[in-house]
Amino acid sequence: MGAVSGIVEVARYGDAEAVVTGIVGCAGLLPTIAAIEAGQDIALANKETLIAGGPVVLPLVEQYGVKLLPADSEHSAIFQCLQGVPEGGLRRIILTASGGAFRDWPVEKLATVTVSDALKHPNWSMGQKITVDSATMMNKGLEVIEAHYLFGLDYDDIDTVIHPQSIIHSLIELQDTSVLAQLGWPDMRLPLLYAMSWPERIYTEWKKFDLVTCGDLTFREPDHQKYPCINLAYAAGRAAGSMPAVLNAANEKAVELFLKEKIQFLDIPKVVEQVCDRHRADNKMTPSLQDILDADQWAREAVLSASESLNQVPVFIN
Ligand code: MG
Repeated sequence: MGAVSGIVEVARYGDAEAVVTGIVGCAGLLPTIAAIEAGQDIALANKETLIAGGPVVLPLVEQYGVKLLPADSEHSAIFQCLQGVPEGGLRRIILTASGGAFRDWPVEKLATVTVSDALKHPNWSMGQKITVDSATMMNKGLEVIEAHYLFGLDYDDIDTVIHPQSIIHSLIELQDTSVLAQLGWPDMRLPLLYAMSWPERIYTEWKKFDLVTCGDLTFREPDHQKYPCINLAYAAGRAAGSMPAVLNAANEKAVELFLKEKIQFLDIPKVVEQVCDRHRADNKMTPSLQDILDADQWAREAVLSASESLNQVPVFIN
């Protein structure tokens, strides 16, 4: 609790114009709320804050009149494409995904995945938790929920596509079927810079983009048998209320157990599904901050018991 209150103090300290929230996991929620209440704009590099706390964070953003600027590369791409699009012009979001470490592995081989296999991301250099989330594609599922809260589209209007080269960072479709994309090298500095400089564009000396040397751009549909986490995230997002907080916390805990070699790679979606299934009867549709913190805590404990009864068959996705 000491560390959390220290971070909360930093988040609301002084007269900063914007606070970049780059903490991994749901630990970013309370400091982000503190910064919003201090009237500071948020550059959101911590997706879990919005996924778990969306029902609480969005009304506060409105109430305090602050801006929530996405620093996640896909959401930055969507936000960049949206500049100049009139209200109501957006029809569909297409999130691109690298496909993670096991993009080219057959589904049968996933049962033997080791921690070091899961930590080899093909395109992006990131922390352990998000690299595992990329390998399960839960990262993309979480980003679908993040996109829903940031841009207000229904889940039916948010699609995902595997794009192994990570050059197109995401796309939007407008009402007239025109599609806009944002392209660039896979480099997190650009979305972070744009979250800080918006609406300005700052000149940089970074390596210029080159269509010819970047090579072929390819796309394919995600394999939902191989990546059950995507559908789990859509189901949790549609269930709304405190369910996304449960999905997020269950996933954080399951990834932690996987990194400690307490559960297998394929157990991650199994325990997350069991825990979401158990939360269905208790899902609060308009949760308070305390409800979200309680759901988060409950889900972490529920993962521990679910990891001990992995033979049960969950039935969360209908
Ligand atoms: Mg991302």
